[in-house]
Parts: sequence; C-alpha cells; structure tokens
Amino acid sequence: MKKLVKTFAVKRGIFGKQFVIKPLNEVSFTLKEGETLGVVGESGCGKTTLGRTVIRLQKPDGGAIFFNGVDLTNLPEKEFRKLRRNMQIVFQDPFSSLNPRMTVYDILARPIRIHNMLSRSQERDLILSTLESVGLKSEHVGRFPHEFSGGQRQRIAIARAIITRPRFIVLDEPTSALDVSVQAQIMNLLKKLKQEFKLTYLFISHDLSVIKFLSDTIAVMYLGQIVEIGKTESILSQMLHPYTQMLFSSIPLPDPKTKMKFTVDVSEIPSLINLPPGCPFFERCQYRMPECDRNRPALAEVKENHSVACFLHHSKVYT
Ligand code: SF4
Repeated sequence: MKKLVKTFAVKRGIFGKQFVIKPLNEVSFTLKEGETLGVVGESGCGKTTLGRTVIRLQKPDGGAIFFNGVDLTNLPEKEFRKLRRNMQIVFQDPFSSLNPRMTVYDILARPIRIHNMLSRSQERDLILSTLESVGLKSEHVGRFPHEFSGGQRQRIAIARAIITRPRFIVLDEPTSALDVSVQAQIMNLLKKLKQEFKLTYLFISHDLSVIKFLSDTIAVMYLGQIVEIGKTESILSQMLHPYTQMLFSSIPLPDPKTKMKFTVDVSEIPSLINLPPGCPFFERCQYRMPECDRNRPALAEVKENHSVACFLHHSKVYT
C-alpha cells in the first residue's frame, strides 16, 4: 500500500451539517507473502476501513494498492474480478455475515460458482474437504446458520473465505464477537490454516493479546495513520511511540478471561473530523513539544524493520 487515503462525508447535529472524515490518511506498508500483519488501535482509528480498502470493497480516494506487483487501484472491474478470488475477508460478526436463508452447502458453493472454479459434480468434494479443514463435519452441509453456535458460524465464514484458495485474507476482528472460551479455538484454527494453505493475513484487532499471537509484524494505527510499525518482537521489546506505550501499558490481568483495558478513557480520543495539522496524538501526549502541534511527524525507520512517527525518535538510531 502506498499513501492510501480514504475519506467519507458524514452528517452531524440536528441540522445535519456535513463533515469530511479521513479514516485513512496516507497509510503505507508492505506485507510479504506468507506473513501476518496485525493492525491494532482503538475503535474508530481507521483499521476496518483499511481492511476493506486493501481488497477494494471500497475504493480509495488516493494512493495505490499493489497486489503481487499489480496496481489494483484503478484496475478495471473486469480485470479485478479475475484477481478477486485471491483475496477474501472474514468479518467480525458471524451472525450477520452469513445469509440465514442459505444452507452451509449453498454458502460455500456460491464463491466457487461466482469464480467458475469447478463443475457442479466436483464442487461437493471441495466443500466437504474445506469443512473438514475448519473443524466441521460433512453432515453440517444441509443445515442453516441459525443451527450453529457463534464459533461454528465463524468456522463457516472462514470456510467461505478459504474455499477459493485465496492467497490473502483480511481478518476483521474475527474473534471479538465470540465467547472468550471460543476465541482461542478460532485463533488456533487461523494459525493452522495459514500454514496449511500458505496464507497471508491482514489481521485487524483492538485486542493486543490476539495481535501478538498471530502477527509477524504489528502496525499501530491512530486517527487514520500508522504511528508505529515493526516486527512483533521489536515492537514488544521496544515500544517507541507514546501511543503504542499507552496501548501496551494495559497489561493483561492475571485472569485470562479478563480483557485488557486501555488506560485512557475513550472519550478523550479526538475526532476524525477536523484533524489537527500536527501530530494526531498531540492532545493526549505527555511528551508533546511545540513543534508537534505545527508539523505532522513522518513515519521514519529508526531501527531495522521498525518505523515510528514521532519527533522524539526521529534523530535517534536504535539497535
Ligand atoms: Fe507526542 Fe510529539 Fe511524538 Fe506526537 S510527535 S507522539 S505529540 S512527542
């Protein structure tokens, strides 16, 4: 992704005044084949918009998306359709993402037919083997989504995502709507499938424990921008951006069922409307300096494979 920009017009207030918000503000990163990039940040930071934009579920307003060297940004729809089966998405809510009127068989057959992958006689084998890969059984094919638990529904959604044998999957908070007891099972399944099908993931979550579990690289997003990105070990051993430190200072409590809590109240998060001209974290930063209010810090590499957008670190080199 290169300098990806996405804006939306929103109406607010009793007079419906229109504002422009920018959930993606020149976002750039490279994701290597077979790796997982975990994107973490508070609600409203733009991570879901990022996930949808990289697979062109919505068109960016600026920047470029490259997939295997092909610029997807302005690729005609007809050309893009040929690539579509290589990139899929698993949504957060398995209750609303599956059509309640379709059986599991029909849900899984649909992408096969859309992409003209197999004959009708061959598709059954692929559906049954894919169900097995996600931990479901052949007898489940004739059932409807409401006959399954939340975890099983998410397994169906994952089966639908992998049935076209894609190379890249966006996982948009795939466990956050599930019971804690089921979350670990789904995370283990995603890890297994990644190896089995040589998948590349863009994994979006607000939950640091799941991000750490699956990611090779972590990107921290704040108000539509990546403020820090680096190899997972590097980020965990040396968090540089004050916002990353704030997020990760929310150490998990001893009870594993207790979710991490952010230390700063959500009401303090500035709005995507009227973004400040300088550092987006200025209002909340305890280290802010006069220049932070005037200039926006660029994402700069300060360590091998580790970049940060903060003036505190720009003149430093870390090892
Ligand atoms: Fe804080 Fe300034 Fe760094 Fe922004 S650039 S995070 S305001 S020190």
